[in-house]
Amino acid sequence: MSRDPFARRVSDLNDAPERSGAYVLYWMQQSQRAVCNHALEYAAQRAAEKRLPVVVGFGPTADYPEASARHYRFMLEGLRETGEALRERGIPFVVRLGRPTDVALDLGKDAAVIVCDRGYLAHLRQWRYDVARGAACRVVEVESDLVVPVEEASSKQEYAARTIRPKLHRRLREFLVPLDARKPQRQPAAGTPGGESLDDPDRLMEKLAPAAEPAAVPRFFTGGYRHARERLDRFISDRLPDYESARNEPGLDVGTGLSPYLHFGQISSLEVALAVGGAEFVAGLEAGSGTMSHARGSVGMRTASHAPASARDALLEELLVRRELAHNFVWYARGYDRYDCLPQWARATLQEHADDRRSYRYTDAQLVAAQTHDRHWNNAMREMRETGFMHNYMRMYWGKKIIEWTDDPEQAFARILRLNNRWFLDGRDANSYANVSWLFGLHDRPWTERPVFGKVRYMNAAGLERKFDMDRYQAKVDRLCAEARGAGRS
Ligand SMILES: Cc1cc2nc3c(=O)[nH]c(=O)nc-3n(C[C@H](O)[C@H](O)[C@H](O)COP(=O)(O)OP(=O)(O)OC[C@H]3O[C@@H](n4cnc5c(N)ncnc54)[C@H](O)[C@@H]3O)c2cc1C
Repeated sequence: MSRDPFARRVSDLNDAPERSGAYVLYWMQQSQRAVCNHALEYAAQRAAEKRLPVVVGFGPTADYPEASARHYRFMLEGLRETGEALRERGIPFVVRLGRPTDVALDLGKDAAVIVCDRGYLAHLRQWRYDVARGAACRVVEVESDLVVPVEEASSKQEYAARTIRPKLHRRLREFLVPLDARKPQRQPAAGTPGGESLDDPDRLMEKLAPAAEPAAVPRFFTGGYRHARERLDRFISDRLPDYESARNEPGLDVGTGLSPYLHFGQISSLEVALAVGGAEFVAGLEAGSGTMSHARGSVGMRTASHAPASARDALLEELLVRRELAHNFVWYARGYDRYDCLPQWARATLQEHADDRRSYRYTDAQLVAAQTHDRHWNNAMREMRETGFMHNYMRMYWGKKIIEWTDDPEQAFARILRLNNRWFLDGRDANSYANVSWLFGLHDRPWTERPVFGKVRYMNAAGLERKFDMDRYQAKVDRLCAEARGAGRS
């Protein structure tokens, strides 16, 4: 079995040869970090072999689909830190405003080879194909945002977590391996192309001029690897032991809070998986128990040895199985952002109930203003609106209720996706499309038939109140909103 960290992560996107050039270009797009980034390390390796410097290029576009100040601010904070970390390694980071493909092709004119990271959504794949078609040199893609590359895990769209789980588990020994950074580059590239300064994200925000609303949420999330790693370390030391038992409790925040950082590629899921004890998980799988008691640090920092193995396993189930199932979905399902991507049984049963009476109906404006009859839903919407985030269990409830309150399921699908991608900092992710589709039966099974939902799973307020302390959730959201107001947001 190969321990080459690039084996099966690298694929050529065109037939053009490598050539003599001024540098190896890593066109960064998805994996916006300097740490644990296979595309960056592969570029550094090719550069060392060719005795050339590496240049990293990035092209923030002013009109990224569905993005606003909330997303741009977080991304630019992360890029500023990435630029600093690259510079410490002697690697120039060239940021130019423009269409990402134009920036890549322009910087690629002097490159011996263009390395890019992998994007999973349709427009991100299209960008890479456009660069591969337009470039005069070899363009190579390196998978760096999944633990098991999507095509290695499965060659088809999977039905559910239960069908992809064994496939992922079988490949973990091969892919759940640390990635070492190469030594710093000795000579920065001579004649490095010029670009924008990242020192002042506010100035760059002015130039990009994204939609002002939803506004940035720096009080709750500051972008960048360092913040992600601090969150991860705090999670491991303080919350991981309770993750399995308490993660569903909406009034508590037992999760990692890493989804925005994973979405922008500011931390790698491989690093997170290793830090929580992924290597011991693999050893446990191989020993046939699924667990092992002697945890060893994986990335040289805090380890998860104090947490019960079942807590670690629960986190890895979300991070490895659910997250990679979502990527399997957007990779293989045509039209993953459309209602017709839903399973046939789900569409049929929803159709049968499309004319059922809706007890409540709300406009988008009423929803965003959190003015429904349902206080739990209103609190979830307030959490989303003010912080850019929402507890996982409440995301399910939030989406299910919009299905119940919208005239027909197809409209509900478009509406939920629109709100999800607009207000969440982690929106527009593979997880967004898979989870919104889950609300409508994807990766799930038929349940007892009932009005509006047919056989699609239903949720109600009584269930929330029976299982959880919903007053505690209300208090949490009140506190978060007060903090947001204190920070100048209404
Ligand atoms: C209706 C709905 C919409 C959602 N929209 C998004 C979205 O836009 N973006 C997004 O990243 N997630 C989305 N999720 C999935 C999940 O709610 C969030 O990833 C999670 O709440 C983020 O919190 P965390 O980082 O603390 O997660 P943790 O509990 O700490 O889990 C660690 C990581 O595992 C992954 N993960 C956790 N739960 C899931 C899940 N159900 N499916 C896939 N991966 C998961 C995430 O990458 C997460 O960061 C949605 C879920 C639902 C039900």
